[in-house]
Parts: sequence; structure tokens; C-alpha cells
Amino acid sequence: MRIVVKVGSNVLSRPDGMPNVTNMSSLVDQIATLRDLGHEIILVSSGAVACGRGAITPSRQLDTVAARQLYSSIGQIRLINLYDRLFAGYGMVIGQVLTQKENFASRTAYLNQRACMLTMLDNAVIPVVNENDTASLTELMFTDNDELSGMVASMLDADMLIILSNVDGIFTGPPADPSSRLIPEIEPGRDLSGCITAAKSGFGRGGMGTKCGIARKVSDDGITVIIARGDRPGILTSLLLRPSEVPHTTFLPSPQPLSNIKRWIAHSSSFAKGVVRVNHRAAAALRSDRAVSLLPIGITSAEGDWEEGDIITILSPEGTAIGVGRASMSSADTTPLIGHRGGRPVVHYDYLYIE
Ligand code: GLU
Repeated sequence: MRIVVKVGSNVLSRPDGMPNVTNMSSLVDQIATLRDLGHEIILVSSGAVACGRGAITPSRQLDTVAARQLYSSIGQIRLINLYDRLFAGYGMVIGQVLTQKENFASRTAYLNQRACMLTMLDNAVIPVVNENDTASLTELMFTDNDELSGMVASMLDADMLIILSNVDGIFTGPPADPSSRLIPEIEPGRDLSGCITAAKSGFGRGGMGTKCGIARKVSDDGITVIIARGDRPGILTSLLLRPSEVPHTTFLPSPQPLSNIKRWIAHSSSFAKGVVRVNHRAAAALRSDRAVSLLPIGITSAEGDWEEGDIITILSPEGTAIGVGRASMSSADTTPLIGHRGGRPVVHYDYLYIE
């Protein structure tokens, strides 16, 4: 199997801002075992900011962006050096991939990023991926590394994404509440609104809400997603060899996965250059099981300035997002056709993702 393993800052760093060498070496041990079993591993590792904190006391108070840039610049090399040494102990070679959301925005950049990581895998090099926090602009950052790991899993057609954090999985209520129970399996389409608390823990940016959203999207891509606790001894190997013995939540993969281009579109909503609102009839047709394209007659208004090939958001008559698609004509060509019968689709079914 091709497995993306995402490890959160809380697993990789100690409260004093130093790398958690015990947890890291245990993870590397386990990844080496998985490699020996024939699996291909991509590691998405957070912890740069958290590990930079322990290394320096800034000369003056820094704003959030400056602090993130400073700490990540220091913490990332500490982490990667440690990984390099630990993996070398097993004769394994790692490569560092520092990426930004822009690298997923255009199809060309996305395919380029994909090609790079596939070449690493072909050469038995383990990609160790993180966001380039020194350069990412706040508005264009990944929500957190859960989102990054989901995009990587989808981009590489992974079989499985394992998200290791500091909780055992998704609970029926707040994990600290004794009446909450761990949900072992979540099937596609299950309503999780009652299970998610806004609380987020520790040093990372993510929380359970984003984890669930990402897990859902990635499992819709036909990829099994597991959320488990990263500091449980032997967690990774147990999840693969003796899953019934360790607590975790599995999001079961959709039996009808999306095509690769639809996956990219599904994960691209934040790059949308424009918005179209549709009428009730078009909204119902798009949401049906039929293969329906978005035609000019169904559109009631358009906003934004987009070119052919850009991503646009599709809104229901009430203004809620119902999907995203890759426009097959520019906003300038679309506007005069709004509400008119006939003509080419504004978004063809093959390039449409309905939520
Ligand atoms: N890229 C951040 C880091 O390495 C982590 C982001 C997150 O917490 O998800 O520190």
C-alpha cells in the first residue's frame, strides 16, 4: 500500500519546544517496519514552529507571522536533521519537500509537485513533507497540515492516510467527557455534526473539526483515512497488523471514488477566482446522481474575473456553496450568456465537484 502518515506538532515536540526524540525515533522504527512489509510511506510532519520555539528567545515581541517564520526556519532543520539520522540507522534515505498552497493551485504546478514526489518514491526516497512556513502568506496558507496531508494523499493516489494526533480518534462528544465514546468506523455520508467540538489542543494549528472535514473529503476520493493517537507505543504497526487492538477511528473509503481531475477540483475551492449562483432547477439537477454539466441557462448571476480553466464556486439560490468546478469559459464570455438556453457548458460534468 501507499500510505501517507501525518504527524502533529504535539507528537513531535516536547512542551519545552525541543523535538520529542522518543516519539520521533519510535515513529521512524515503525515506518522502517512498514517499509520492510512492502508499504510505500510518505511522511507529512508538522512540528517546525513548535521545535523552533525552544531554540531561541526573540529580542523583541514578534507578531504571529514573524514568529511563525522565525521559529519554523529554525525548527524545520532540527526536525529534518533528526529524521535524516534516525532513518539512516535503517539504511533509508529521506528527502525534504517544503511546499505551499500555491503549488496546488494551478493544474500545472500540481502535476509538477506530483511528479517530484513520484520520482522520490520511484527511487525509494521517503518524502518528508511540511508547509514552507517561512514563505506562506497567511491568506494562502494550508488551514493546517491535516489539509496538506489530505491533498498529498489525494494527489499521490494513496491507499491510506493515517493522521496521528494527541487524541484516539473521533468521539461522540468532547474527548474529555467520560460519557463520550470513540467511534470506530465512519461510513461515507454519515452526519458528524454532533461529534465535533471547536476545541483545539496544544501547539498545532489543526483541530477535530478540520480533521473530520479533511477525512471526509479524502475518503470520498476512495482513500481509507485513520485518525489515531501518535504517542501510543507501536501505533502505526498495530494499525496495520493488529487494528482491533488499538483505539482509532477509520473513515471508510467511498466505493465510487472521484477521478484524479475531480479530486484536484474538490481540494481547490480556496483557489476559486469567481462565483456563480444558480437557480433551484439547476441546483437540484447538479445535486442529483445524474452526470449534469453547469449550463448558462441555470445561472442567475456571476461575480469575479476568471479565465477559462480557473476554478469557480457554485452557489445555491440561497447562497450556500454547492460545489466547485473548472470553468470552460472566462467570466467575460459567461456573463452575456447568463439565463440563456443553449451554448456550451460553463463547467463540464468531468470538471465539476458537488459537495
Ligand atoms: N507547518 C506547521 C509546522 O510545521 C504545522 C501546521 C499545523 O499545525 O498543522 O510547525
